[in-house]
Amino acid sequence: MAHRRWNGIEYSGRERRRQTYPPRLYSQFLPALSLIGPSPIPRPAKFDGGMPSVDDGGEAIRMWVGEGQRRTFMSTEAYLIVHYGEVGTKGQNRPRFIRALARNVAQRLEGLDVHPERKRSGRIVFRLGPRARWEDIAPRLRTVFGIAYFARAWRVPLDMEALEKAVLAHLPRREHATFAVRARRAHKGFPLTSADINRRLGGAIARATGWQVNLDSPDVPIHVEVLFNEIFFYFHKEPGPGGLPVGVSGKVVNLLSGGIDSPVAAWRMLKRGCEVINVHFHGQPLVTQASEVKAIEITRVLTEWGASPRLYSVPIGAIQAEIMKTTPPAYRVVLYRRLMIRVAQEIARREGALALVTGESVGQVASQTLHNLYVINAVAELPILRPLIGMDKAEIIAQAEQVGTLALSSLPGEDCCTLFTPKHPVTAAKLSEVEAIEAQQPWEEWVTQALTRTQVIDVHTSPVDALQFWPDRIDQLLKVG
Ligand code: ATP
Ligand code: MG
Repeated sequence: MAHRRWNGIEYSGRERRRQTYPPRLYSQFLPALSLIGPSPIPRPAKFDGGMPSVDDGGEAIRMWVGEGQRRTFMSTEAYLIVHYGEVGTKGQNRPRFIRALARNVAQRLEGLDVHPERKRSGRIVFRLGPRARWEDIAPRLRTVFGIAYFARAWRVPLDMEALEKAVLAHLPRREHATFAVRARRAHKGFPLTSADINRRLGGAIARATGWQVNLDSPDVPIHVEVLFNEIFFYFHKEPGPGGLPVGVSGKVVNLLSGGIDSPVAAWRMLKRGCEVINVHFHGQPLVTQASEVKAIEITRVLTEWGASPRLYSVPIGAIQAEIMKTTPPAYRVVLYRRLMIRVAQEIARREGALALVTGESVGQVASQTLHNLYVINAVAELPILRPLIGMDKAEIIAQAEQVGTLALSSLPGEDCCTLFTPKHPVTAAKLSEVEAIEAQQPWEEWVTQALTRTQVIDVHTSPVDALQFWPDRIDQLLKVG
């Protein structure tokens, strides 16, 4: 990446070395194209690093196809094709799932000159405008749940001649390569079968380029999709993140600390199609703003995966100090957690969320023994979902890296709990004892107090910036951008 973006600011990193690739002449294809009328527009050589990538499609190409009265002038057009996986298997909910996915893709690509078209035969199709840049589009699509794979495709009419000419004109420029044509027909009425298309198009490509066929692992796969009104072809398909489109599974409230686990928990719920609202508890003014800054930045990263930009930031330092004064140290962590659950539950009610989410995993720390989880759970009326419950720390860390939150979570920051954490927390809290301790405390008042002091932060408009908070950590922070 030549530039790294952080909160809208561009930082120039190491400029990637660019080599020019000798522009290939079209002459080798011209006989095969047998063009009458305007010749294909030579594509600009715009390759990075010497070799053309297989998905280089270049500019749209105009050409004449057909004979005599059927002869027409056409141009290939650039499209984005999105294939969904699991959404396709949801029976009656299917149209709703597909609509949600189309909406999420459109939202994610806003401003990139990408225009939704009709949904067609198991895929969603977007037209790419002249300003659409694949380098901007592809990274965003990698974070849209529900996408099985996507491709930058070209469209031609339902006509074999048009397909052949267009494929030849758009083929990546390589001297020697192996290839394979992979045709699929949604439109079974098309006069040629998939095997016929593979053979005919394969023959034309072999004659024009001298390339060899390799069906198992071709350098250049040529995917052809025959639909009812048109044919799409592309050379490179990229896997999406899978899962379900965010929004189709309802809303949850995630308890987001500044740590490694809870962002991963949020991500896993997003992947299952949940709308995720994050809630962070902090100990200000008894501690610095560090954990809140982390929570804001982490939420920013999670919004790229579809999380809500709304972050509930709840100050509980004063209440924690009260708990500290009046309760046995060993029980504190469990008591803080039960306070968090009570408050988060109220926020969930206001938001219309049906479950809470935490980043707990059995046995990871003292507060996460089965006994303690039981005691924490007992205060909840809503289900508490714990998507990491059976994961090892190493697995969670690897996933945090993939999500893009690991570097932020690893910043130094006082969690509200670390300040007040006793040396020897209880590992097997007894519910009756915890309830007896709580009976002496004004819990309802505390919950109301926390809620009235809660701030709802829009992380996109919030001026909080981790770079200002940790200027000495620029390298670590830019890893996230
Ligand atoms: P994490 O890395 O997510 O902080 P952890 O291993 O540090 O997890 P704990 O500190 O015991 O574990 O927290 C367990 C869970 O409780 C967290 O995953 C999170 O869901 C919730 N939680 C803890 N502290 C906070 C906080 N300050 N604000 C919101 N949620 C919290
Ligand atoms: Mg923590």
